Amino acid sequence: MKDRIFNFNAGPAALPLSVLEEAQRDLLNYKGEGLSVMEMSHRSKTFDKIIKDTENLMKEIMGIPDGYKVLFFQGGATLQFAAVPMNLLPDGKSADYINTGTWSTKAIEEAKKLGKNVNVIASSEDKNFTYIPDGFKLTPDASYLHMTSNNTIYGTQWQKFPETGSVPLICDMSSDINCRKVDVSKFAMIYAGAQKNMGPSGVTIVIIREDLLERSPKNIPTMTSYKIIGGKDSLYNTPPTFGIYLIKLVLEWMKNSGGLSKVEAINRKKADLLYTAIDSTDFYKGTVRKEDRSLMNVTFRLPSEELEQKFIAGAIENNMIGLKGHRSVGGIRASIYNAVPVEAIEALVSYMKDFEKKNS
Ligand SMILES: *Cc1c(COP(=O)(O)O)cnc(C)c1O
Repeated sequence: MKDRIFNFNAGPAALPLSVLEEAQRDLLNYKGEGLSVMEMSHRSKTFDKIIKDTENLMKEIMGIPDGYKVLFFQGGATLQFAAVPMNLLPDGKSADYINTGTWSTKAIEEAKKLGKNVNVIASSEDKNFTYIPDGFKLTPDASYLHMTSNNTIYGTQWQKFPETGSVPLICDMSSDINCRKVDVSKFAMIYAGAQKNMGPSGVTIVIIREDLLERSPKNIPTMTSYKIIGGKDSLYNTPPTFGIYLIKLVLEWMKNSGGLSKVEAINRKKADLLYTAIDSTDFYKGTVRKEDRSLMNVTFRLPSEELEQKFIAGAIENNMIGLKGHRSVGGIRASIYNAVPVEAIEALVSYMKDFEKKNS
């Protein structure tokens, strides 16, 4: 087998090697049961333990207080863009949204498509989403405030979450869930597609305060209803069983690596290595306001698009993939999620120095 490459993909993204190896060991015969997790009933005792363990590990690692449920949905984070207003925004009421990029914009569009009243109370669109806005006013009586904690495409991240008082705060954490400690009690709901920091695509994690389940109206599709899916502990129908099992392995890997504070410290070290390399020369230029820089998606430019293409091609020859910026913004993006090891960043930094020497 060819050695594994350094994977800077934005999503689906790198998974820890030890997790893949464990899944491989379990693949044909899970814990001596003579079958794969993929082949077992979602109603079996064995799978019931897997899903409960996953929920409990999530609560333990994230420090989720009592009174919240951890649910598993399909349909990606994108389905949640619709499910949030369907469940939590009654007709005749309005919700606040903060627009910090493409994914926030999509969440806003999806709510509007459903005929809901949306107030965009802050946006960084004026500067192509290169910063996190502050100084906004909540609409009194808003049903919730929706925000995106990390802007995967632009490379910005909220460093401090807004205070919303009694207005429920709802956050799309798809690209930075479990990259750092957050105070979950500040949020009414957090959701995240698993494929960036938690596991494979096909599972979306929804962490929701239990009192919100009561808001789900009866006339929405079953598969979008927090009340129904929550009431059945994510087992209303067949959940994405193998994906949930992989999330469990990723959480165990996090726990064995020293938990969230250790993972956060490593993430800060990784991001620091890369941003320091960018800032130490004029050849590379970061694309976002410094205080809003993301720990997970590091975006930068080279002096020309030709050099950027050459940089990406040369990186591939050096076993580094996934560095091309999103097609809507161009440039370079290194996604350095939890499972991307420090060695990958060291290899990238060394390649950057070498590339600059040869091309400046
Ligand atoms: C990737 C991403 C999405 C889209 O996720 P899907 O699971 O593909 O629907 C939404 N929000 C953010 C912040 C993302 O990074």
